[in-house]
Amino acid sequence: MKNIMLIAPPAAGKGTQSDLISKKYKIPHISIGDIFRDISKEDTEIGIYIREILSSGKLVKDEITYEVVKERLAKEDCQNGFVIDGFPRNIEQAIHYDEILKSIGQEIGYVISLDIDREILEKRIIGRRICEDCGAIFNINDSENAPTQESVCDNCGGRLYQRSDDNIEAFNTRYQTYLDKTEPIIKHYQEIGVLKHVNGIGSIEEVFQRIENIVGDEK
Ligand code: AMP
Repeated sequence: MKNIMLIAPPAAGKGTQSDLISKKYKIPHISIGDIFRDISKEDTEIGIYIREILSSGKLVKDEITYEVVKERLAKEDCQNGFVIDGFPRNIEQAIHYDEILKSIGQEIGYVISLDIDREILEKRIIGRRICEDCGAIFNINDSENAPTQESVCDNCGGRLYQRSDDNIEAFNTRYQTYLDKTEPIIKHYQEIGVLKHVNGIGSIEEVFQRIENIVGDEK
């Protein structure tokens, strides 16, 4: 399986689709945001710094981000491919990522841009709920993906929580950051010739089917 990178604005379904790819093709899902959320629980200097950055919707410093990415990609389970979401998020990170991959003998693989309108994202962000035990993602504003009880996980019975950055103020900052910093990397990968566009509007299954149409022949 080739490596897969998903690029998308906040709440476009990167995490959900990456989980589905990970399960279907048995490759690890590397979510840089999840790794940062874990670190933010620590009462260390770096934990406190990341906690503040996460709730503001800004980006973590590149030096810290590179360390986290390098350490994760060096793990054994990445040898047969991985799906990465949340990195790279700006052109400097994209160039650095190309170098990291070269240095560990990996290829970029597929770069998939999930395309979706801002209005849909705003509605999603308010309703997103995540299970604190198994990480399953629900949306109370989407009947197809709503949990049966508002704060209980249908998969494992765990408690559902709302991310600290899932509010309109942080969303506006994150969306603007996406337009300013992340969209230029789409052009970068288009020029390299590895970019695929996927329509991100529709049910989780519909979007996953579109992704499978691109990566499925690799199984
Ligand atoms: P995500 O779960 O991908 O939406 O990421 C949540 C937050 O983690 C972002 O708003 C950033 O504060 C931080 N983060 C995730 N990925 C990166 C990255 N590649 N560079 C810097 N900060 C990041």
